[in-house]
Amino acid sequence: MLTISCDTTNAAFEGEGLRAESARILRALADRIEAGEDFHTHRNVRDLNGNVVGTCRLKPCNCANPCEHLPTRSA
Ligand SMILES: [Zn+2]
Repeated sequence: MLTISCDTTNAAFEGEGLRAESARILRALADRIEAGEDFHTHRNVRDLNGNVVGTCRLKPCNCANPCEHLPTRSA
């Protein structure tokens, strides 16, 4: 399951920023996922000002925590 949660109430999302910053965050996440970053546990999502505004998790199953399928290898 791919889970992305992002708060849109801070300054980066005001007005036109709602769409622009949402798109920027999704592109940045796409780059991180493609680059191989480990998203098995929730990783922070930051707005363009560097504030943590949400989380992203990506894993090949739909378990809630704790997940039975976490790889045993270290990241
Ligand atoms: Zn699982």
